[in-house]
This record gives sequence, C-alpha cells and structure tokens, in this order.
Amino acid sequence: MLDLLRKHGPLSRGELGKRCGLSRTTLYDIIAGLMASGAVVTAAQEDAAPRGRGRPAETLTLNPDAGQAIGIDFARRAVHVAAVNVAHEIVGSASEAHAADLPWEDRVELAERLVGTLTGGSLRLGALSAIGVGVVGPVGEPEGEEDGRHLDALPELLVKRFGVPVLVDNNTRLAALAESIWGAAAGGQDVLYLRLSHGVGGGLVVNGSLHRGAYGLSGEFGHITVEPGGAPCDCGGAGCLETVASIRGLLDSYRAAGGRADDVSALLAAAGAGEEAALGVLAKAGAQVGAVLAALCNAIGPSVIVIGGELAEAGPALFGPIERTLTAHILPISRHRISLRRGTLGDVAGALGGIALVLHESPLLSRYPQIPDHIDQLRQP
Ligand SMILES: [Zn+2]
Repeated sequence: MLDLLRKHGPLSRGELGKRCGLSRTTLYDIIAGLMASGAVVTAAQEDAAPRGRGRPAETLTLNPDAGQAIGIDFARRAVHVAAVNVAHEIVGSASEAHAADLPWEDRVELAERLVGTLTGGSLRLGALSAIGVGVVGPVGEPEGEEDGRHLDALPELLVKRFGVPVLVDNNTRLAALAESIWGAAAGGQDVLYLRLSHGVGGGLVVNGSLHRGAYGLSGEFGHITVEPGGAPCDCGGAGCLETVASIRGLLDSYRAAGGRADDVSALLAAAGAGEEAALGVLAKAGAQVGAVLAALCNAIGPSVIVIGGELAEAGPALFGPIERTLTAHILPISRHRISLRRGTLGDVAGALGGIALVLHESPLLSRYPQIPDHIDQLRQP
C-alpha cells in the first residue's frame, strides 16, 4: 500500500483496491492500521472533479511528517542517527557519545531515544520501510562463523525495537557512500574515502559502484603496514597505519614527544596554536597517510580523495604533509588530476550512508544487495 502511494501519489480507496487486488475488508483494515500509525493521511481534495453526485472520494496520501528510512551508525564510542521522510528529504540527525564498552542492548536503546528526538519528537515511524545500520569492522556475506561475531544479536535487537528489516554494513564504507552521494565527492565515479578517527578505515567507489570486496573487506586502509615491526595493532598485526594515524596513535606520539593532551581536541588546539611538538606529530602522521594514499591511487586511480573523521579537523597542519607526500609518490601524470578534499558530512556521514543503503536509489549501489522482497514478513505485527 505504501509502495503504491509512493509511486502514484494520492489515491482513493477504490483506486488502491483496483491496483492491489485485495478484498474491500482487508483493504480497509490495512488502511485503518496505516492511518492509526501515522504513515498515511487523507489528502485535501481541492482540484478533484466531482463524481456526478455526492461528495468526491477521499484520497489517501503518505504522511509527509512520517519517517521513511532511518540510518544508524554504531561507531566505537558514539551512536549517530539520521532520518528521511517519505519525500526522501533528510528530516534530522542526532548523535551521542558513550563509553567504548557499552553493551549492544544499551546502544540500541540509545539509538531509539535519539531517533525519538528527531524533528522535536514528532517523527512518526509508521511509514518506516527499513533501517540501514553501520558498524565498526568488516561486514560481509554471512559465510564464516567469524563474520557474525558480536553482531549476531544486533539486527534482531533492532527488529524488535523498530519492527522493520535491518541492513548492516561497515560504517566507514557507508560514510564513503554518503560523501559520494551528498558530500565532498558528490557525483564522483572513482572516489577514495579515508576516515581518520579512533580507527582508520575507508571506502572505495570504483567505476560508479561502492566496492564491497569478496568478503566485505574492502576499504581496510588502516591495516596497511607503514612501519614493519612497529607498534602492535588491534587487528593482530604490527605497524599498521592505524597505529600511527588514529586518534590514539597520534596522542601516544604526542605524549612521547613531550606534549600533554587528554584528547584529540587538545592536540588539535596545540597544533592550531603553532606548538612545535603537535605540528611535528601531525606532519609525521600526515606523511605516512600520504604515502599510503599514493600507493592506493597508483593501484586504483581515483579522481577524488575525501578525508573524514575527527582528525580531518586539523586542517593544513595535517593536509599539507598529506598532500606533499601524496604528490611525491604518485605517478607524475596523475598529480594534477587528483583532488584532495575534506569530508563535508561530519560525524553523521555513516548514518546518512545507512539511509542511502535503504533507499537503494543511488547508482553507486547497483551491485549491492537489495532489501528482500519478503519485507512484510519481517515486520513485527
Ligand atoms: Zn592493523
């Protein structure tokens, strides 16, 4: 019913009946349910032609104030949510930080509370078609035991809360998708996205499609080795880019250089004030990022590189060294053809990517799995 109203605009009950082929009783029951949930409202009948005698048939339309798709990004230490209405306009976004070890039940509860705050708490979820969810780490086809990990319970928890299907993907890849649709690389066909945050990761748009990789492992740029035999990494390796260019990696280097900063904003403030130790640490990490980007550019040939995450806020102190090393290491012929940009969507990029995944309207998702057809079976009664 929602699909018919989405495709055809306002329809009368009779027209809906003709198009869906349901019995009058069933049709009226479903419509009553949709109206009660706020998904469907009656439309004004200003320009409708009168039907011979009596009053014109009342038409039904999607409620413009109802949410249609929600994106949730379960980042390491924060939950970000965003929602679009039935016209696919973004109606709002919200974020809240939490401790890194917060259990999934509590994260889902936090997400529900944040969704409740969107549009001042007036967002109706009756027309919700699905939720697109970003999570940290690799997300692939459910082939091996290790793919499920701690995430097994998450879709189930979300279905219980929201009563709609849930699509899950890596949150950094979703951020790459959002930046390539609405953000710094909008319209780009070959985009390399790198996120410098608590973790380091990325995403690739190759030939107009978001690249997922055979096991959902595309975009793990943070685990490219930059210092063989270097500091141990969470992935089990050593000397990965993440150990030197993540927030923790940078804070460790800064403290080792005699600097004092409790968090990333203190480090960035010190760099902004021109403090040598802070600038030196950013310059070194920037050079390592630039070298990795150069190697990736030589392999993939993007036209746009987007850098997101909290560390992108360092500005020229980080982008200068990145650009210098990048230029020094890429093929001379591509030097002036690659545009290095800062992400524009901020920390809700992952949640927005989740929405893109649900709407599935971007050509970037042409090779991505669709929401299953048995969508209604997954709905809670
Ligand atoms: Zn690693």
